[in-house]
Amino acid sequence: MNIFIMGAPGSGKGTFSSKIKEEYNLNHISTGDIFRANISQGTELGLQAKAYAEQGKLVPDEITNKMVKDYLATLSDKKNGYLLDGYPRTLDQAKAFEEMTDGTDLAVDVILAMDVPTDVLTRRITGRRTCKDCGEIYNIYSKPTKVEGVCDRCGGELTQRKDDNEESLKVRLDEYSNNTEPVIDYYEKKNMVSHINADASMDEIWSSVKEALKNK
Ligand SMILES: [Zn+2]
Repeated sequence: MNIFIMGAPGSGKGTFSSKIKEEYNLNHISTGDIFRANISQGTELGLQAKAYAEQGKLVPDEITNKMVKDYLATLSDKKNGYLLDGYPRTLDQAKAFEEMTDGTDLAVDVILAMDVPTDVLTRRITGRRTCKDCGEIYNIYSKPTKVEGVCDRCGGELTQRKDDNEESLKVRLDEYSNNTEPVIDYYEKKNMVSHINADASMDEIWSSVKEALKNK
């Protein structure tokens, strides 16, 4: 079973990716991991990607597509399938991926879309605070500490990640709706998308995910 998991920042995509990977024994691939592997191994593509990243630019689709393709090539003899996270991020990437894999056992079977309303995403991200000392994660809306700004567990000081503010979240959400939502629409027309209501309890989300992946 080959899966794309799609979701805006704060949708819980990462958490559920790990659970899905465990449950179905899949290769969990994130483009972040593929980038880091190429960069640390100093591959040609890695060097090119690094140059873009260092200039604060997005890595062009062509480089990303090649990296994913190379990675999939190393994977082709593993039969359980993959869970691809963070790719395709644009419609062009989706089409390129289709061209590379159409008719092969690497073609995607199902797209999981983790749906969360924007106001909920905003509270999840902008409310997030992390303990400087022990790393415990809180949320001022849904999991506040007893004393504001102080970790319940160790008394450490809480901090907010630099890009967890409303402005940079807006940039990331816009990027998602401009680039990634068209990808979901594209697969929607092919009847390949399972929408998961990800504004629910962990147990409820997990049941929806398992239901969506049944008989795939
Ligand atoms: Zn702490």
